Amino acid sequence: MAVEDTEENGAKCICGTCKSYPGNEPWLYCARGKSPQDINQVECICPSCPVWAENDLGGTYYCVSGRA
Ligand code: SF4
Ligand code: SF4
Repeated sequence: MAVEDTEENGAKCICGTCKSYPGNEPWLYCARGKSPQDINQVECICPSCPVWAENDLGGTYYCVSGRA
């Protein structure tokens, strides 16, 4: 099931504390799609995110690959 682009999910998203987060843009990449910026892939902390667990996601680096 696709992750919903809601304020509730946006509030739960932990991309803002990720070392790979490029800054200056909305997060919730698993719902909204990939970043237009080049991502320095240092880490992906999606597996620690409640949205990741609640939606049974399996992947990482949605900021690079796009929607879950
Ligand atoms: S799974 Fe990743 S992109 Fe999706 S809400 Fe959580 S931290 Fe953000
Ligand atoms: S999708 Fe993953 S790698 Fe990208 S900013 Fe969010 S937690 Fe970090």
